[in-house]
Amino acid sequence: MSATRTAYATCPLCEATCGLEFEIGEGERVLRIRGDADDALSHGFVCPKGASLKPLHEDPDRLRTPLIRRNGRLEEATWDEAFAEVERRLPPLLEEHGRDAVAVYIGNPAAHNLATLLYGRVLIKALGTKNIYSASTVDQMPKQISAGLMFGTILSVPVPDVDRTDHLMILGANPLQSNGSLLTAPDMRGRIRRIRERGGKVVVIDPRRTRTAEHADEHHFVRPGTDALLLFGLVHTIFDERLDDPGPVGDHVDGLDVVRELARDFAPERVADACGIEAPEIRRMARELAAAPSAGVYGRIGTCTQEFGTLASWLVDVLNVVTGNLDRPGGAMFPRAAAGQPNSLGAPRRGRGVKLGRWTSRVRGLPEAYGELPVVCLAEEIDTPGEGQVRALVTVAGNPTVSTPNAARLTRAIEGLDFMLSVDVYVNETTRHADVVLPGPSPLQRPHYDLALYQLAVRNVANYSPPVIEPDPDIPPEWRTLLRLAGIAAGQGAEADVDALDDLVAAEAVRRGVGRPGPLEGRDPGEVLAELDGRGGPERLLDVALRAGPYDLTLADLEAAPHGIDL
Ligand code: SF4
Repeated sequence: MSATRTAYATCPLCEATCGLEFEIGEGERVLRIRGDADDALSHGFVCPKGASLKPLHEDPDRLRTPLIRRNGRLEEATWDEAFAEVERRLPPLLEEHGRDAVAVYIGNPAAHNLATLLYGRVLIKALGTKNIYSASTVDQMPKQISAGLMFGTILSVPVPDVDRTDHLMILGANPLQSNGSLLTAPDMRGRIRRIRERGGKVVVIDPRRTRTAEHADEHHFVRPGTDALLLFGLVHTIFDERLDDPGPVGDHVDGLDVVRELARDFAPERVADACGIEAPEIRRMARELAAAPSAGVYGRIGTCTQEFGTLASWLVDVLNVVTGNLDRPGGAMFPRAAAGQPNSLGAPRRGRGVKLGRWTSRVRGLPEAYGELPVVCLAEEIDTPGEGQVRALVTVAGNPTVSTPNAARLTRAIEGLDFMLSVDVYVNETTRHADVVLPGPSPLQRPHYDLALYQLAVRNVANYSPPVIEPDPDIPPEWRTLLRLAGIAAGQGAEADVDALDDLVAAEAVRRGVGRPGPLEGRDPGEVLAELDGRGGPERLLDVALRAGPYDLTLADLEAAPHGIDL
């Protein structure tokens, strides 16, 4: 009898969320990884990185044991020793210097990991610091700010309906290379090809001749940093040539006259030299956008990581609005995710909107956004003496000395910290400076659900993956590690009752679920908790979120659908 078995899981390595099929042999060895042909979203597509999960899982350099710095060297330690070291070092610092003396940096992989996504925030709350940093502020934060101000929440980001659009305009994005960003759409190459096959048009605006540009109908080289000028030139043309027609969404739009006034000074003839694109071309692009039966404008990192990133991000959606393409098939649409999506929770028109700049960074006074300070401030917050100086750092799945600005200064600053703790599966350029490193399990040994990314998907799908490989009993799941750290930060010590803390987290999730419109509204919280099948950790929180979501799903429903559910 064959000892092999087949398992299915969503790839956690990028935003495309491809379904993978694993062949598992004796001794829980991964024999083969390929695309899951029956996956509800990716239909068998896979990129070479998907197969890298096998070497990643087997990599002898992947940490399986906590590390503690002793005599200047990171040495293997037991879990109890590691947590005891955190308890010995961190709380006294907070006691002496205040909660803001610790900074937290959350890396990009945390967004692809249910445990860090849901329990990282518990740790942050327990630490009580305003010094929160993440990869977002060197990537998509401008888009999240413009989306929050326009549409109400941090993830109210319209995504282009690439499967139905007749015209796709892409600025500063290279989805054929990135596999999509703020756009969960596996096989973008195929999707772009199909736009052209059905007679549609793909226009790329980018200072570089990217792979995506090579597969487009048109590529316009824009001068770096001038996207906002170009976009204003396009908006100007739409108004100037009376092409503006927001369609049904017009009933929900405020301030179009203000936008018209703002755009008045940005005629294509005025912005052309700065942008490096001739005025007649800008006018033609605007006309074609307005004339297309449906069109989506999509801007990504190139439109964000520049001086006018928030303005450019806003103008992308202004264009979608004034051409009547916001919230219509083939245009720029809001996904309706199964779980955890602020957009689809609560009563219509009752959102609280967003508040930005509630506090500022200590040294140069940059404003927070969604509870985060720009990571460009992190080095100076550590190396500038004074009241409120950062003296300890917690990193979760991040490598900021490589991936953020001022890397050399940040490295020097980190070397001067009083204490550093990293939750990470590798010793990398950043975590090698830590005093304690706590590893999590391999991506194949933890459950997976893309809570954030399904809020940005071209189709509404839900796909839960149980661990592909039997979890290693010597490596606690990250949610337990994060809760234990939260217990230390909250003064309960290294021996805090993790299950009791988790019960509190779940009770709070249920309390919120029954308190707002939706399937759980008005239910008895105790009754809801009792229905959760004795689950704990992120799976219980996911189950609550699914039950409170717009499709009235349960985790059991997803467990019964290993290829995901097309909603
Ligand atoms: S495209 Fe992304 S999600 Fe798909 S296999 Fe590659 S890395 Fe994984």
